[in-house]
Amino acid sequence: MSRVLIIGAGGVANVVAHKCAMNPDVFEDICIASRTVSKCEAIRKSIGETKAGITTAQLDADDTAQVIALIREFKPDIVINVALPYQDLSIMDACLETETDYLDTANYEPPEVPKFEYKWQWAYREKFRDAGITAVLGCGFDPGVTGVFSAYALKHYFDEIHSIDIVDANGGDHGYPFATNFNPEINIREITAKGRYFKDGKWIETEPLEIKQTYDFDKIGPKNIYLLYHEELESLADNIPGIKQIRFWMTFSDNYINHLTVLQNVGMTSIEPVEFKGMKIEPLQFLKAVLPDPASLGPRTKGKTNIGCIFKGIKDGKEKTYYIYNICDHQEAYAEVGSQAISYTTGVPAVTGAMMVLKGLWKKPGVYNVEEFDPDPFLDELAKQGLPWIEDHDPVLPEGM
Ligand code: NDP
Repeated sequence: MSRVLIIGAGGVANVVAHKCAMNPDVFEDICIASRTVSKCEAIRKSIGETKAGITTAQLDADDTAQVIALIREFKPDIVINVALPYQDLSIMDACLETETDYLDTANYEPPEVPKFEYKWQWAYREKFRDAGITAVLGCGFDPGVTGVFSAYALKHYFDEIHSIDIVDANGGDHGYPFATNFNPEINIREITAKGRYFKDGKWIETEPLEIKQTYDFDKIGPKNIYLLYHEELESLADNIPGIKQIRFWMTFSDNYINHLTVLQNVGMTSIEPVEFKGMKIEPLQFLKAVLPDPASLGPRTKGKTNIGCIFKGIKDGKEKTYYIYNICDHQEAYAEVGSQAISYTTGVPAVTGAMMVLKGLWKKPGVYNVEEFDPDPFLDELAKQGLPWIEDHDPVLPEGM
């Protein structure tokens, strides 16, 4: 039985805390720590009766000394970091100092420049190895399960994978004219950045949302998908031997794109601070403050998500195409843990990854992306925790895919 420190108290942390509490045989004691302690308290209250012990703590995770002090006091076996990407390095430093295992769901981001690169966290590989502790990076859905799907496809169905298309559809409707399904700042930074994909050992850059396709998703129907850069492309390009092409596609409605275009045109998505009434204000952070809180979308969102990977490659000398995906229902997720499917599909894999480390199945001193571990026990556990997978060995693909 283990002790887990959850950092953050947003939509994803809510799912992580609920799921840990539902598995008291693994997570005996839970501490939820975040900048705003009242949000940790609200999560604790919403969990209600559980055999697990739950405490809360106020924590500024940008301050490594505070994280070290809390780890020394609570003595967790693992830290699940579901705060924001800006806190990854300060929390990793605290885990090193206290020799505690670490897991997160998004790569470190320097606050001033959106980069979506693993280099800062990969620089900790030797230090974690020498300290005998494990860091699991990017263990949400994408990044996360998409990497596990890739390891699973390679292990069971391919001798060589030549291309991966990650397709992420959100068929949910929250009834607002415009809102983002997870942290608006991170979401908008991701979408307004240039697109990029990996081809023949090179990175090809596109204008933001320049490449568009239509894809007919199981249980959702046809949707426009746009090529984006996404952080798992970097680690998969390194970790899938012989890979020639990796692309990431996400659905956006015309309405979403129209709102985003206007916001961009008027400068509201910029992260360059502007002077306003004697204060420096970052327009994107201000926009986040006026948009609906993603955590509030839960009760309103209807519909499903469908996220998966399409692989092409060779098995026994023959060309093969294989598609593996998960479908998650927003309202079912909300009924179970009080968060919509975007938070659910991120939080459940994080808890599953933590279980893998705690059970010794993914315990490997160093810093790793999820595709570097055995996918089988993870996927079995993920299905038990609410996210089963579906396989299609002969998917119908749009032209050019
Ligand atoms: P939210 O914005 O809802 O929650 C973030 C939480 O982190 C808030 O409670 C916030 O506190 C807290 N926080 C921010 N700064 C600090 C700090 N310095 N110290 C302590 N706590 C802090 O985000 P989500 O729950 O939607 O997302 C959580 C993480 O999951 C993000 O990193 C996001 O990028 C990632 N993610 C990953 C996905 C995947 O599939 N891999 C998909 C979706 C999200 P406060 O309440 O005070 O603001």
